[in-house]
Amino acid sequence: MTLVLPESLRDVEAVTRVATPARLEYDFTAGRATTTFLRGILEHKILGEACPICHKVYVPSRGACPSHGVPTSEIVELAGPGVLVSYCVVNVAFHGSVMELPYVGGLIQLEGADMFLMHLIQEASPDEVRIGQWVEPVWRDDADLEATLESIRYFRPLDRPDATVDEAGHVVSWGPATRGGAA
Ligand SMILES: [Zn+2]
Repeated sequence: MTLVLPESLRDVEAVTRVATPARLEYDFTAGRATTTFLRGILEHKILGEACPICHKVYVPSRGACPSHGVPTSEIVELAGPGVLVSYCVVNVAFHGSVMELPYVGGLIQLEGADMFLMHLIQEASPDEVRIGQWVEPVWRDDADLEATLESIRYFRPLDRPDATVDEAGHVVSWGPATRGGAA
């Protein structure tokens, strides 16, 4: 089918793209486990939950152990420090980003936890960051704590010997590194 434009539109440039800004507001119901976690954040605590069968500690817990399908009923307070099990250096800005480039996003296994937390790594240049490195949370001032993971501003390196991380990205030993990693 041939579209015949009226004479008045003959020399008009065709529209090939339209930007339509969209905005969506919604309420998030946290649920039991996430509520526990977020209330802990308000008290400057990182609370995980343990499975009563395999004793794995999830943080933040989704309320059930995915391996056993039972509620993670035991609350475990974590000290805070953890080991960087993976990371990426972000060199490309994206829409809405407020971070100065380059910056590091890290996957952290907190000591005592069996899953990873994703967070910013700061106070280290990207070429100083490495897998196995110990990091600790840097919190907002107590008066500024809110029920969000952003109350932890970022993680920064700790002066401790590196931990050993296996190829699957799990910390093998919580003691000093036996292989890999710069001192
Ligand atoms: Zn389990």
